[in-house]
Amino acid sequence: MDQAVQQFTDLYIGGAWRPGASGDRFEVLNPATEDVLAHVASAEIEDADAALDAADKAFAEWAGRTPRQRSEVLRKAWELMTARLDEFARLITLENGKAGTDARGEATYAAEFFRWFAEEAVRADGLITHAPASGARIIVQHKPAGIAVLVTPWNYPAAMGTRKIAPALAAGCPVIIKPASETPLTMLALMPLLEEAGVPKGLVNVLPSRHSGKLVDHLLHDPRVRVVSFTGSTGVGRKLLHSAADQVLKPAMELGGNAPLIVFDDADIDAAVEGAMLAKMRNLGEACTAANRFYVHEKVADAFAEKFTAAMAKLKVGDGLDPDVDVGPLVNRDTQEKVAAFVADAIEKGAKLKLGGELPAGRGFFYPPTVLTDVPETADCVHDEIFGPVAAIQTFTDTDDVVRRANDTEYGLVAYVFTENMKRGLQVCERLDYGMVGLNRGLVSDPAAPFGGTKQSGLGREGGHEGMLEFMETQYISATW
Ligand code: NAD
Repeated sequence: MDQAVQQFTDLYIGGAWRPGASGDRFEVLNPATEDVLAHVASAEIEDADAALDAADKAFAEWAGRTPRQRSEVLRKAWELMTARLDEFARLITLENGKAGTDARGEATYAAEFFRWFAEEAVRADGLITHAPASGARIIVQHKPAGIAVLVTPWNYPAAMGTRKIAPALAAGCPVIIKPASETPLTMLALMPLLEEAGVPKGLVNVLPSRHSGKLVDHLLHDPRVRVVSFTGSTGVGRKLLHSAADQVLKPAMELGGNAPLIVFDDADIDAAVEGAMLAKMRNLGEACTAANRFYVHEKVADAFAEKFTAAMAKLKVGDGLDPDVDVGPLVNRDTQEKVAAFVADAIEKGAKLKLGGELPAGRGFFYPPTVLTDVPETADCVHDEIFGPVAAIQTFTDTDDVVRRANDTEYGLVAYVFTENMKRGLQVCERLDYGMVGLNRGLVSDPAAPFGGTKQSGLGREGGHEGMLEFMETQYISATW
């Protein structure tokens, strides 16, 4: 077994490592080889209670520090993580499978949240004004909300955690984080770094568990908890919203997507292909922001499909630890089978296979870059997240029609538009019912921008100025003097 990954496999509670109360452990696999990487401690209710006590104890002292003091700890975390990007990238690849460039990109992105929120920590603004009629003063300020429970997915084992931990700490809140069972190692490995950065004991606690439902439900019913911040599927998000309702917790929900990518006939086709490759293949399509449906204007559809397919065909599939590999394995067998089923369904319903589409034999959860054209509206992949390296291309001729089709989904996370006509581009962006739009860009994720969706893609925003407010309560004081 790999020594680096064996080092931190216990629960992290109150600044100490300990096995779970029951001694139960679960396997974490390397998706490229299917070998067991580690046996990780599985948290139970007693462990959740210990984490709650630790977080509660840490709260007052941390919330009482000045914003500048909190900021300096976060800044140090950014420096330390930036110095160890290769180490984190390797661990991300080992447990998630993604290729080295994707893993390094994630580690950089993850670290940036510490820097951004170090800068935001000192900018929590408020307001003081005159009440229009009573003559009183209105004072509005933001205070740390309380203990935050953070639940994260496997597709970005580092960044989906730091996108929540950094704003919570900047706001003055302690956290208990439950990483995905497929990929708990990266989050555990981050803890010694946070200690070195000066994060006090108990402020950040990590509880991997094979009993996510029971554990998280217990945490959300403890009166000391005030925030639940979740990233994952819409189905689980809905369940957590139900649990959160009992104590009326502040919810932040980053849920599923079904991103349309629209290429108009006046688009720069090479730039659109480059953007589409990024939107589709970053993280091998295992991203909530991944372009799921391609709508290409009929006039340029053939040219786009040819160039896009040629770019997809160049990608090398293999173990993400190999520096020449562009596309690693999917995270597990279920995901691999789900992606294969989407492709089979689309072909059965009339789509044409231009590239890929064949499950490779041998070990590892690999799936080749795949391009489908003439995909019918009835295909499952038009309505559900593919979460894999499959591009489903359709055509359009009319702007109103493509806007209607793009909006015809319960999701509203991100859409992409490619056109050289900025007036048309901006008009279409405004008509798209999405929290984020990439206009001539295949990448929208940025720690400085408010990331999040409309409709069933979620509630709240992460990153930007808005990210810290998810962990703060607004208090208004009516005063006379
Ligand atoms: P998932 O919903 O299955 O799991 C997410 C997390 O919730 C994991 O930690 C899991 O262990 C935990 N979990 C599962 N069941 C639970 C329950 N009943 N109670 C409490 N916790 C539970 O999602 P996933 O498969 O890990 O991730 C893929 C999904 O995440 C996709 O739908 C993707 O779009 C979404 N995602 C969204 C964003 C975003 O920012 N909007 C980012 C990344 C991923």
